[in-house]
Order: sequence, then C-alpha cells, then structure tokens
Amino acid sequence: MAQNIIQGLIAACTATITAHAEELTALDQAIGDGDHGLNMTRGFNAVAAAADEIAALPFDEALQKAGLTLVMKVGGASGPLYGSALMAMGKATPQMPRDHAEAAAMLAAGIDAVKARGKSDAGAKTMLDVLIPVHAALSGGGGLAKIRQTASTAIARLNRGGRCWMSSGRTRSDRALPLCGDSGCWGPRTATAGCGPELR
Ligand SMILES: [Mg+2]
Repeated sequence: MAQNIIQGLIAACTATITAHAEELTALDQAIGDGDHGLNMTRGFNAVAAAADEIAALPFDEALQKAGLTLVMKVGGASGPLYGSALMAMGKATPQMPRDHAEAAAMLAAGIDAVKARGKSDAGAKTMLDVLIPVHAALSGGGGLAKIRQTASTAIARLNRGGRCWMSSGRTRSDRALPLCGDSGCWGPRTATAGCGPELR
C-alpha cells in the first residue's frame, strides 16, 4: 500500500515537472540562465529511475532518499531547495501522515527548510508564498479541492503582484526559487520599491 502510494507520488511529480519543463525554463530565462526546466527534469527523472528502491524504504527514508537525489542531480539553487524540503519532511515524519494534522506538520518542516536554505520568508515572491497558504489550508482541514484552490489563488496573486521576486539585498545565487516569470523581473529592486502591494 505505502509502496504504491510512494510510486504514485513519484510518478505524479515527475509527470508534472516534465509537462511544465518549458514553462520552468521560460521563467528562468526571464531572471536567470534558462536551465531550470532541464535541471528539474533531470532531477525528477533520477528520482523516477530509483522509484522501486525509494518506494521499498520506510516513508521517512523514502522522502530523504528522494530529497538527496534532487540535491545531487538538480543544479543551481533548486536542487538544495527542493531536496532540503523533502529531506526535512522525511526527518520530521516517522510514517506516512494519517491525517491533516500530520500532513501539515510534515509540510511545515519542509517550509522551514526552504526558508533556511533560501534565506527567505513569506512575501518575497518565492515558492514560500504558495507553500505557506497551502500549509494553512491543510492545517485547517482542507481537502484536495481546497488545497488546489488555495495554491491557484496564491500563484495568481503572485502573478498580479508585480515584476519583482527579490525581497531585499539577496543575490541571484542565494534566492529562493522565483515564481514570477515576467520579463524584466530581475533588477536592482528593493522590498519597498519593487514588489506588488498584495504581498506587503
Ligand atoms: Mg538557472
């Protein structure tokens, strides 16, 4: 049962990343070197290639193994961000979550890892601006539809919010993953001057 779920999760993540690889690359072309789709695809393909091995592990070790694979295979800032999140979630989760509270606690550990690794927090136009509302929905007992809606709303708010992903004086190399893909997004902007009012 657990093995099938882990296999399904790996397949779903890999399919989603693959399906959106070009979009990820376009986002990165706007503010970086345009390799994000390629990097993420390579990382998740590596996880998928090890799916049998990963799924045979206890749930916590499976998350950590998947995270470590992403750290090793995905270049740039993304591998450490996604990998650290999964590894922290594994360390915080002795077994597959049985309810909303346990799933929320697991996600919280991943969010804390992204904050620490990316030196970021809510409002900096990173994936945290999606993960944090999703965590709140999960904590509130929201089902899959509610969580999907929360994520969609958060992404739409980011896209409306402006053309800047920076929060403060962080550099390109230590930022958390940007979700804003507007061209011209990258620039010497500041928290007060550059980002949309919705997130302030
Ligand atoms: Mg890049």
